[in-house]
Amino acid sequence: MTYATINPYTNELVKQFPDATDEEVEQAIAQADAAFRSWRESSFAVRAAVMNKAASLLRGAKNDYAKLLTLEMGKVTAEAEAEVELSARIFEYYAKNAETLLQPEKLPVDDPAKGEFTVVHEPLGVLLAVEPWNFPYYQIARVIAPQLSAGNTVLLKHASNVPQSAAAFERLMREAGLPAGGFKNLYATRAQVERILNDPRVHGVAFTGGEAAGAVIAAQAAKALKKSTMELGGADAFVVLADADLDKTVKWAVFGRHWNGGQVCCSSKRIIVVDEIYDDFMELYEKGVAALRAGDPFDPATTLQPLSSKKAADDLKGQVRQAVEHGAKAREVGPKVPSKGAFFQPTILTAVGPDNPAYRWEFFGPVSMIFRAKDEADAIRIANDSSFGLGGSVFTSDVKHGAEVAAKISTGMVFVNHPTMVKADIPFGGIRRSGYGRELTGLGIKEFVNHKVIGIPDIDAAF
Ligand code: NAP
Repeated sequence: MTYATINPYTNELVKQFPDATDEEVEQAIAQADAAFRSWRESSFAVRAAVMNKAASLLRGAKNDYAKLLTLEMGKVTAEAEAEVELSARIFEYYAKNAETLLQPEKLPVDDPAKGEFTVVHEPLGVLLAVEPWNFPYYQIARVIAPQLSAGNTVLLKHASNVPQSAAAFERLMREAGLPAGGFKNLYATRAQVERILNDPRVHGVAFTGGEAAGAVIAAQAAKALKKSTMELGGADAFVVLADADLDKTVKWAVFGRHWNGGQVCCSSKRIIVVDEIYDDFMELYEKGVAALRAGDPFDPATTLQPLSSKKAADDLKGQVRQAVEHGAKAREVGPKVPSKGAFFQPTILTAVGPDNPAYRWEFFGPVSMIFRAKDEADAIRIANDSSFGLGGSVFTSDVKHGAEVAAKISTGMVFVNHPTMVKADIPFGGIRRSGYGRELTGLGIKEFVNHKVIGIPDIDAAF
């Protein structure tokens, strides 16, 4: 039995859940397929009503939904409530915009007198979503709001440490009026995930998680000739230029690196500061990190949550040890974090050279890699010297110039004077080893639709 809630603040096992049986998996696929046949015929107004209802149910029970996140993966209450709100906004975004985003597109053909050619966007059918634990609700909403709005149906395999959050979202969609089979959570094993992908009734997979699992799922999908989207890891650059407002920049850097306990794909994991202001930045940054308070994530005074599990904390310790063995300098910062639970002492890593394997790693927790850049051009070079390509940011008082620098950073998302942003109305995704495809907005809703041509050529046109 792998699915279990283990409170990362106490390391206590709260509840276990049996794996799905093969019969349950078969029944879920059959129901999702049957549901698709009627759901695809439903109007955008009907789908929008379900989305809006889901949003209002989330808001109506915000505290209860948030509590589950805090219990299962340690998110501090304020951030857990913000995640519930963000999920509600994603549902509302698609309630409002899905119909417009999927409008048929009349093609501007050479000679309109010779006929009319239109691309329509039709749903594909049953999809599989495989999701990580770091944003248990938001990650689901990011897939099901667009895909259900497009007329698809969805099966979910969530991370094994957030089984109650997964079940809560299935209940939510049922209560919001989604027909049975439209969205089903399965405590699926890895073998069952592969079987689902190979089932002819399933038409694609949206995966979010680490590179290793992404490569496995992408290969399985490719072998079955199914469409996939990959939202993988990142090591976002946080570039600080000489004219940046240091106080505000440091506040954003501390937040960008430590929100969600530093366990965000688009955390500011590589802070790159130009030589001129490096020492001043470091002094303020260290103070900012030292001011974080680790503790009970249910306590409003806590600003640093435990990691998601004891194993995650042990793995991160191993990564820091290896970085140091290869020449990096590690400095633990701030008051000692609690010894009980999955806490990790905030750590600043410097002197991480390009020949250190850690230079290309993602540290999933409160570990800041800080680089001194000679100048702006060097900062851009370091920012781009990464296997990942998810997000990034540039801090400067000259926002016009910030946008010019942003244009030179090679990732899926770059923000001026803000760590990589997560919003309902901005697309999300990356390049290189951060994956492919996009979630949210019109890009996300069009990932799993058939862009079908309906052509009406003039019957009298010459053969
Ligand atoms: P993970 O280990 O890759 O797990 C993600 C999901 O994949 C979980 O549901 C996991 O299930 C499942 N899984 C793992 N191996 C599998 C396999 N061989 N077959 C089928 N399913 C498999 O990632 P994680 O540690 O939970 O999440 C952290 C990673 O996700 C980080 O790298 C982070 O940057 C990335 N992430 C990316 C984004 C983005 O949008 N780009 C967003 C959030 C997180 P089990 O729990 O049962 O193993």
